[in-house]
Amino acid sequence: PTNQVAAGERRVATIEELPQVVLSGERDSFLAAGLALLDAPNPYYLPHNGVNGAEVEILGRTMVNFAGYNYLGLAGDPRVQAAAAEAIGTFGTSASAARLIGGELPLHAQLEERLAAAYQVDDAVVTGSGFLTNAAALAFLLGEGDLAVCDSLVHNSIVSGTRWAGCRRMSFQHNDPDALEALLSRSRRHFGTALVVLEGVYSMDGDVAALPELVEVARRHECFVMVDEAHSFGVLGETGAGIHEHTGLAGTDVDLWMGTLSKSMASYGGYLAGSRELMAAMKMSAAGISLYAAAPPPAQMAAAGAAFDIMLAEPGRLKQLRDNQAQMLGAARAAGLDTGLAQPGTPLVPVITGGTETTMRICLALLDQGIHTTAIVHPAVAETEGRLRFFVTSEHTPEQIRRAVAATARLMA
Ligand code: PMP
Repeated sequence: PTNQVAAGERRVATIEELPQVVLSGERDSFLAAGLALLDAPNPYYLPHNGVNGAEVEILGRTMVNFAGYNYLGLAGDPRVQAAAAEAIGTFGTSASAARLIGGELPLHAQLEERLAAAYQVDDAVVTGSGFLTNAAALAFLLGEGDLAVCDSLVHNSIVSGTRWAGCRRMSFQHNDPDALEALLSRSRRHFGTALVVLEGVYSMDGDVAALPELVEVARRHECFVMVDEAHSFGVLGETGAGIHEHTGLAGTDVDLWMGTLSKSMASYGGYLAGSRELMAAMKMSAAGISLYAAAPPPAQMAAAGAAFDIMLAEPGRLKQLRDNQAQMLGAARAAGLDTGLAQPGTPLVPVITGGTETTMRICLALLDQGIHTTAIVHPAVAETEGRLRFFVTSEHTPEQIRRAVAATARLMA
């Protein structure tokens, strides 16, 4: 068969060999160590029942759950569910077209208005996936001869976007304005457009970007700035508007805000927010944002809109989320656990466990004790920096938090 014919020095893989061939390359998959990982006991793809909340039923057992992004506890809120159900009743289950050609629903424009207002920028565009929002936006903005300057800990969706873009990608030491300054002094002049890409709260570490300082450096070197607010919108700031509200920056101090609807907004999809010109360009020309890709479905838009309203009407949820995380972080530190760079007031607490095997063992032992958390191992993080990641929500009780910390500390002892 043609797929086994030698191509120069390279033998072309058969379809059966393909996964191993792909994984043995430089691919960014935590299965690169071998598919064997999934044959051994592991905490991945666990089937669960019910809403992904502070508790969840896994394999028939009710577990305390620290493995979901349902930060404000709204994914199972009856008001959010009713809004989604009503949208399905009115608009059906699919938008059934890309907005550019098939038209849009009022739900799309309404959510965009709210997002633009939260950022105090001209406009916003909602999209079908958080991951693809980053990938598509970066692919659209940057090309050959351009430079993406990324914090060293940015999410894979950002790295993927720079690959799609075909631009150069350089990283600077995590959250360090001096390192950004040094990189830009050395390299900025060799490139056309340069975009500094940051996150509001870092998803593996739970620390907050030094945004004002980093923006200042970027501006001095004539770079654009993009901030991913996946873990900071609906978390930071008095009204949940994110890191600009938290730091006192204006929404217009950043060129492009990006966020996801799958976390605090209890839905699915992504968004971009920024100037009228940039948003118009995204809407008219960016493949995968709102052309060549179907519009996000009615139920998801209505759910996010309802969650947004509840966040504004019940700011106590934001405070409770941040207090819960601060309580967990404080307790973990007091118990002698290594919480890395984590800061109070974010939605997650990492506990650094070390190598892959240790991380896996402790994660499974916690499951056995009715505590569900996430095991993050190489290459998502460095081999020695494997960690358990506890996502906190406004719904966790002090007792659940204490129990999880005490159990982890016992297993780490
Ligand atoms: N950006 C960051 C920082 C993330 O952590 C994630 C997912 N956890 C995404 C983007 C992608 O968002 P989504 O899962 O909603 O596609």
